[in-house]
Amino acid sequence: MSIRQQRIIEIVKEQEPITSENIASLLSVTRATLRPDLAILTMSGILDARPKVGYFYSGKSEINLFTQQVKDIKISDIMSVPSIVSEDTPVYEAIVTLFLEDVGTIFVVNNGNLIGVVSRKDFLKSAIGGIDINKVPVGMIMTRKPNIITVMGDENALHAAIKILEHEVDSLPVVEKCLEEGKEKLKVIGKVSKSSITKLLVELCKD
Ligand code: ADP
Repeated sequence: MSIRQQRIIEIVKEQEPITSENIASLLSVTRATLRPDLAILTMSGILDARPKVGYFYSGKSEINLFTQQVKDIKISDIMSVPSIVSEDTPVYEAIVTLFLEDVGTIFVVNNGNLIGVVSRKDFLKSAIGGIDINKVPVGMIMTRKPNIITVMGDENALHAAIKILEHEVDSLPVVEKCLEEGKEKLKVIGKVSKSSITKLLVELCKD
């Protein structure tokens, strides 16, 4: 939305019902200049125009506009670089990676293909279990395919948020399907997490 459109909304909110002549004079522009802005705001349902009365504010649609914005954002636009280890990495080294890369979840891959996920709780469980973290590989403690919740880059941001909530996980691997030796594999191309969704929310509200 342009700055002028935002000003129009503020004016209508304060002074409804208000005619286009009055809005134009408050903004020191001509009615013709305002026409496209008013058309957009009424078409998107933010303003309501009543003949011979003027413009009213109908707040609900601003929320619809926000929802639409979230739905228009693709996971590939908000995903971050994933932290990755191979399945034979000792648990100790994977924990070091977790600290060095300042993440809570690591994806486990074989030739770039997703095979598992390992997170803070898995490491804590293995510590409580008393395993030798220098010897045991992450492959022994990770959550394995097919139990991994993933998303595709062209899904929208809301889909990722819903999956994170429904499955009570902190992050999701962003994957691309590919065929290798006749078998379907999932190439890891990114990560979307609770932080990515929170960042998006803050960005949208700032705009
Ligand atoms: P934390 O362990 O930091 O609380 P999560 O709540 O994401 O992080 O992880 C809890 C459990 O869910 C762990 O056993 C982890 O392996 C598993 N997990 C994490 N992310 C996923 C995912 N995308 N799909 C399936 N399981 C996951």
